[in-house]
Amino acid sequence: MSTNTLYLGYHVSSAGGYMAMGKRAAALGANTFAFFTRNPRGGAAARVEEGDAAAFCAWASERGFGPLVAHSPYTLNPCSDKPLVRDFAKRAFTEDLERMELTPGCFYNFHPGSHVGQGTEAGIQMIAELLNTVLMPDMHTTVLLETMAGKGSEIGGRFEELREIIDRVELKDKLGVCLDTCHIWDGGYDIVSDPDAVFAEFDRVIGLDKLRAVHLNNSLNALDSHKDRHAKILDGKLPPEALARIVCHEALAGRPIILETPNDDAGYAAEIAWLREQWAARHG
Ligand code: FE
Ligand code: FE
Ligand code: ZN
Repeated sequence: MSTNTLYLGYHVSSAGGYMAMGKRAAALGANTFAFFTRNPRGGAAARVEEGDAAAFCAWASERGFGPLVAHSPYTLNPCSDKPLVRDFAKRAFTEDLERMELTPGCFYNFHPGSHVGQGTEAGIQMIAELLNTVLMPDMHTTVLLETMAGKGSEIGGRFEELREIIDRVELKDKLGVCLDTCHIWDGGYDIVSDPDAVFAEFDRVIGLDKLRAVHLNNSLNALDSHKDRHAKILDGKLPPEALARIVCHEALAGRPIILETPNDDAGYAAEIAWLREQWAARHG
């Protein structure tokens, strides 16, 4: 990984395995990507071929790919009030981290959880407990807490909540944060008027060294709306210029940046090309 490289990608379909994902991503101009480790709405993990993963790792390092940003299923909720849901979270997390060892040095991102009325404090405690169960000293993956929009009883809408989780986790070096631009905008952090102030606030509360990956999305809704509806880069409430500024911000240098915008392949290719142009204009 190089801090002078722009690592840009999008959520690729996991069909066909790692090599297939890598080739789909590269064809659209990406040099990293995100994928769901299993059906995003839950269910069993896809079967993984070790040979395919090893071939992909060699191919990706030759091409200078940045670290991948795998995404856990949306149904994973470590702070549900239902024991069966919490059990699924633990099992899925454990299996997914085992699978991630096939592609060492990558990220595994998850939504911290929704406390469903049990309270933020109780939720934070359950999330930290899960992490203290599944993180292992010898693993080669960094687990990322995603910044959330603060919709409903979601935990992670405030930087302070993520800090509180990190504080309670023993293996802190295995843990980081993935910053989602739509989510923090919806959560009330004004990355349009003053991105420097938002990054300074992130640094003050969590520490920029913990910021390891980015989800780059525009938003359909206004600042502080707590909605979480993604929009295309060129077509949302945030001026595209503001998103370009974030992509080029020194606080994010070298971090993989993943588009989660509502697009088809041509749309992703166009957004990647546009962002690379913006980057080149600023970096020469
Ligand atoms: Fe997410
Ligand atoms: Fe996201
Ligand atoms: Zn979202």
